[in-house]
Amino acid sequence: MIKLIDVCKEYNNGVKALSNINLEIDKGEFVFIVGSSGAGKSTLIKLLLKEEEVTDGRIYLNGLDITRVPNRRIPYIRRNVGVVFQDFRLLPNKTVSENISFAMEILGAHPREIRRRVSMVLSMVDLSRKASSYPEQLSGGEQQRVSIARAMVNNPPVLIADEPTGNLDPDTAWEVMNSLNDINARGTTVLMATHAKDIVNTMRKRVIAIDGGRISRDEEKGGYTLEV
Ligand code: ADP
Repeated sequence: MIKLIDVCKEYNNGVKALSNINLEIDKGEFVFIVGSSGAGKSTLIKLLLKEEEVTDGRIYLNGLDITRVPNRRIPYIRRNVGVVFQDFRLLPNKTVSENISFAMEILGAHPREIRRRVSMVLSMVDLSRKASSYPEQLSGGEQQRVSIARAMVNNPPVLIADEPTGNLDPDTAWEVMNSLNDINARGTTVLMATHAKDIVNTMRKRVIAIDGGRISRDEEKGGYTLEV
């Protein structure tokens, strides 16, 4: 599903954000990516979204080496990888259902199919009753669930969440975590970069720790920190 071979990323200012990352993530896995600030987590996510280019190495997404494909193939990535950010990034002047539809419209989907999928993903995150609300009328947890619905509307096989609970209080964070877990249970591969220690320690999923741009730990059913 996702395979990184000897991936290195050096920014133009000479910062080596990632060094020799080798990693394989199978279809249907749930993976937490942990590490202190500046470790390289966001850089890894940007490479997977092709928002940044690797300096060296290869990244396979569904069998396609995305480091070798031209930028015009970026729609391929948008269809295959949904993404959720800490700050939700919803459009304030659009309703919940318009925010979600938009992600399908830009890929040229048929209006009937858009209506069908929007209704499906809203029910998946338990927000059908909020379809006509505007983002500011929702709680933080609800806004994040809308952004999860938007990320899933094109039915991507992979969902990446960058600190999705970072702006939320602990109870609400769990609502969001449960939505991500449900999506994973339906077969989507989920990668979640996080500092939420309690969530990682409770979920007992695969944990990949990054330290100074290298993988320092890759553990099945791991915890936030190494337990000895
Ligand atoms: P994390 O997400 O784990 O906090 P980042 O991937 O954001 O870490 O950063 C890894 C390293 O790369 C840090 O040293 C950071 O300062 C540097 N870095 C991140 N983005 C850029 C950029 N656009 N240009 C230069 N250096 C960057």
